[in-house]
Amino acid sequence: MAVAYARMQLPLPRGQRMAKTALIAGITGQDGYYLSHLLLERGYRVVGLIPPQRQANLAKLDELAARVEVCAVELTDAAGLLEVVETTQPDEIYNLAAPSFVPKSWDDPLGTLDLVTGTATRLLAAVRQVGIPARFYQASSSEMFGAVDCSPQDETTPFRPKNPYAAAKLHAHWTMVHHRQRYDLFACSGILFNHESPRRPPSFVTRKVSLAAAAIKLGQGDRLEMGSLDAKRDWGYAGDHVEAMWRMLQADEPDDYVIGTGQLHTVRELVAAAFDCVGLDWQQYVEVNPRFLRPDEHFQLVANPTKAREQLGWQPQVSFDALIERMVKADLERLQNGTMSAFSSDSCG
Ligand code: NAP
Repeated sequence: MAVAYARMQLPLPRGQRMAKTALIAGITGQDGYYLSHLLLERGYRVVGLIPPQRQANLAKLDELAARVEVCAVELTDAAGLLEVVETTQPDEIYNLAAPSFVPKSWDDPLGTLDLVTGTATRLLAAVRQVGIPARFYQASSSEMFGAVDCSPQDETTPFRPKNPYAAAKLHAHWTMVHHRQRYDLFACSGILFNHESPRRPPSFVTRKVSLAAAAIKLGQGDRLEMGSLDAKRDWGYAGDHVEAMWRMLQADEPDDYVIGTGQLHTVRELVAAAFDCVGLDWQQYVEVNPRFLRPDEHFQLVANPTKAREQLGWQPQVSFDALIERMVKADLERLQNGTMSAFSSDSCG
């Protein structure tokens, strides 16, 4: 359980107010980047919990890597996490760690459960044992709604998870709720719908499309194979969604919130928006490959974010078109500069 610390902050001069400390599990992911950015901008001391073998992934934080502290600790190591919580005395803890690609959870359901539910349970237990008033955020997912029989979904919609990832997320969600109820912890969950950014790995459809549009524009590709163009998703911007996470932990009372745009867009609209950004007609480059087709869903996963709007004052700031434009521009730049960095490689998938 030896925990290695790096870049630990020196004590502030007397009389100076200590910045709030935030611990983030899953700091090297998409949301970890945007959340770190937000917290650093707001004067937080940010500490990432990164397993020793994953330390190289700190590079995915780019310019932020030098501004965060790192604790080298396994998320399966309860004693190590307890030590980190005791030593760093966090004001806020964000549990964002999860397998990156949902379908892969079928390959390792137990590992998924241990990572997703186990990390939440161990961190909550550490807060309780250390006895500090740390506020806890659990990254829940719209995947927990699963086989929905109504749309849109809000905080009262029943959960019917359809895969091991969603089942693990649901277990973690209820574990967090139980800790809130039984031990009076300030614990919240954000039931987040899809959120994207230039930091999404190319295994996700938004990034697959933005990268293909940029590559075709630059003559580095000539076609894009897709599944159903009629599939619909509630796609938001990761930077907006991490703002909601932070707002939950600043509220007077802990609670759970559905976070999404409340708007559905088809894959066809996604493709059209991306190719429009580079001045190309998507219909000349996009082919439907039946291999990628999935059964149609009768009801769609789409958020009703009314509670977050009314109670947290949260609203998405980046529109669907603006999001896709950001992603395509970032991919154009990377391809032109030859700087496809770690977070954009297929290995992240
Ligand atoms: P992401 O980019 O896939 O990041 C996942 C993070 O978890 C990374 O830091 C990753 O570390 C870490 N991780 C994965 N396996 C690990 C392991 N075995 N041990 C320790 N750390 C491990 O995910 P995201 O898009 O930022 O999402 C953040 C959270 O929100 C996740 O819990 C996700 O399930 C949830 N969520 C996301 C969405 C969405 O649309 N993005 C929607 C709903 C919920 P490495 O960098 O080392 O791989």
